[in-house]
Amino acid sequence: MSSVLILYTGGTIGMMQDPDSGSLRPFDFDHLYQHIPLLKNFNVHCDIHAFDPLLDSSNMKPSFWAEIAEVIARKYESYEGFVVLHGSDTMAYSASALSFMLENLNKPVVFTGSQLPMGVIRNDGRDNFINAVEIATAYEEGTPLVPEVSICFENKLYRGNRTSKVNAEHFEAFLSGNYPLLAQIGVNIRYNRESILKPNFRKLKIHTALDTHIAILKLYPGINRQFTESVLQTGDLKAVILETFGSGNAPTDQWFLDTLQRAIDSGIIVFNVTQCKGGSVDIGKYETSAGLGRIGVTGGYDITTEAALTKLMYLLGEGFSREEVIRLLGTPLRGEMTV
Ligand code: ASP
Repeated sequence: MSSVLILYTGGTIGMMQDPDSGSLRPFDFDHLYQHIPLLKNFNVHCDIHAFDPLLDSSNMKPSFWAEIAEVIARKYESYEGFVVLHGSDTMAYSASALSFMLENLNKPVVFTGSQLPMGVIRNDGRDNFINAVEIATAYEEGTPLVPEVSICFENKLYRGNRTSKVNAEHFEAFLSGNYPLLAQIGVNIRYNRESILKPNFRKLKIHTALDTHIAILKLYPGINRQFTESVLQTGDLKAVILETFGSGNAPTDQWFLDTLQRAIDSGIIVFNVTQCKGGSVDIGKYETSAGLGRIGVTGGYDITTEAALTKLMYLLGEGFSREEVIRLLGTPLRGEMTV
């Protein structure tokens, strides 16, 4: 019988309606089999690791990601796979972060959650949970089918660091605009094998020192000088994610380019990521991005903001030199971008 460790961090999925009061409260996962009797039909043993406190994922923080990584590392040899129950709001950030923090991951780490609590009759949590457990324990000849950090939501399996939450209402809450699904869940689970990372059979190594001296500057028509300067003059800033238009474009006002230039000259890394949910940054394609290239802005190809942020936290936390961070930003480390 295979076994899976459920890391319960909180989120809507873990709530049940109290039959007496009618209000939603965290569900006691120690009685998992009582709540989801179908799990007994699975040839899978589930153990639960519940975090304390349980979080609405809007309270998620890098220190909590470090705890998740540490639990996985400690229990790595004892389970075939790991399922992380997590609120959907910041799930794409957490899955991206964990993908960088778990180097040489050779087992499935499947994030899932739900839009409706388990206790609500029409909930999506039960299916998401059962699918995630099945995927986390899917092996063939001793090798896991999905040895990477993924998100399982509404009958789809995504690469974790390729996703964004795009809908607060639909059960289909996530989008992976630049990367194919890892699996499609129907009557059968159809794995898209050529798109799934291959195991490297090296020893798991975790990285928990994340550096948060990073800002995200989203461009918009009318962005003004004072605001731009105040972001770039943030104390101890090491990197800025510049969320640009289209294929990496930005205003060509001289004050704007000069402000960025001063930041770059002072050692700040400026990382160009598109606001679009699909497509890639292509510096120099338009005149509106050529200036960014000339002043030393680094292009982020088709990386999501979630992956860009957590990749920077990881690289800066590792203490690499500025040049090395810039080089690694242009190198896919965990399948997070297509160069
Ligand atoms: N606010 C909740 C959370 O992210 C929403 C959810 O669970 O989907 O924790």
